[in-house]
Amino acid sequence: MPVPGRILREALKKKKRATIMYPFEKPEVQERSRGKIEHFIEKCTGCGLCARDCPAQVIIMVEDTRTKTKKKPEFHYDRCTFCSQCEESCPTKAIKLTTEYELAGSDRSKMVIST
Ligand code: SF4
Ligand code: SF4
Repeated sequence: MPVPGRILREALKKKKRATIMYPFEKPEVQERSRGKIEHFIEKCTGCGLCARDCPAQVIIMVEDTRTKTKKKPEFHYDRCTFCSQCEESCPTKAIKLTTEYELAGSDRSKMVIST
């Protein structure tokens, strides 16, 4: 059974701060953390599995104007929960979640990734 005063003393011993002065200081981002989506159009076959599996309906399949024969995903990331299901579902590894986390903005219409 720990002595109550001892816990407090141990906590105060730690010199490292628990908080940082964000945004003036940036936090250390873990390699596995999930942020903004990156889409590699050259790997994309337009299969639509990412759009089918996205639980937040972030992905809309639109016409690929370059090929005119296939569709491509458009990501409306203002709705994204960063669950990474799209990355899991993509058979050609055309989607990757980056560690970019500063995604706030005042115009939702600009929060679109269209490659
Ligand atoms: S990370 Fe999740 S919520 Fe975001 S686009 Fe992919 S599947 Fe949808
Ligand atoms: S699952 Fe992958 S290959 Fe299929 S449309 Fe989405 S990004 Fe393209």
